Amino acid sequence: MLHPVPDSTKRRRLLRVVALQRRLILRLCGLTAGAAVDRSWLEGVWHELPPEWIERFWSLDKGKRAEWIKTLAAASPLDKQRLADICREELRFKVLWQSGGGVTMHKVDWAQKTSKTFSAANSLLKSFYAPLLYDGEGYRLGSETLAKSHYLAGITPAARKVCPYCDNFLQKTELDHFLPKDEFPFLSCHPDNLIPSCPDSNSGSHKGIGVPLDWDAADQAANWFHPRWRSAAGCVCVEIQVTPDRQLSARLLPRATADTERVTNSRPRGVTPCRLTPPALR
Ligand SMILES: [Zn+2]
Repeated sequence: MLHPVPDSTKRRRLLRVVALQRRLILRLCGLTAGAAVDRSWLEGVWHELPPEWIERFWSLDKGKRAEWIKTLAAASPLDKQRLADICREELRFKVLWQSGGGVTMHKVDWAQKTSKTFSAANSLLKSFYAPLLYDGEGYRLGSETLAKSHYLAGITPAARKVCPYCDNFLQKTELDHFLPKDEFPFLSCHPDNLIPSCPDSNSGSHKGIGVPLDWDAADQAANWFHPRWRSAAGCVCVEIQVTPDRQLSARLLPRATADTERVTNSRPRGVTPCRLTPPALR
């Protein structure tokens, strides 16, 4: 968290993908019961995309996408209203870090048994990231194809030398979903939610899929740094001590008491304070 993550030059391109997701879901939520949805309908929704790209989108995942879309079209008015509300809520996530509240994220039971609406929406939205944003696929946006590697290449190598979660040198760069896509599927492709990180931090062993929010708090993000909007740069210091067994012990401390919880929350899980043995102490 010490190193703020800069924007990619491809940020606006990726926001177009977010707009595609949003438009599709809100159009589906606005349909009356029994309305037919097919590939031609989708071409009307995404009129700016090439029909051949939409045809591939429609048929990928062995036809599951078409089924998810039809499930959403057939959802109850209540489920559609709830889904549209969740869409608008999640896409305001920036407010949590920039305005100290002002929006509340509600935990969603995406796997609920009583309605297929939410699991279909969750699967459909996440499929925009994997496999569509993978390098073998990509989005046809105008004359350009956008994939993960293009997005990452838009952040200069110098600006992504260090993993923002563990501060280790980034030898291999992955994209971590700061707010996990399983819980926040509307943010599966949002550039402000995609953080270049090391494989360990992106995995369950470090930052992983934990939700960096306090669900029950009035200001849910109060105790959390954010790699882009609330970096810990300048907010922490490193305390180094000699332990009784003549080793060096290093730990991260907040400069201000108000950041105590944020520093605690930003430590990689399961990692104990660093211990070093310098030659002079042997
Ligand atoms: Zn890392």
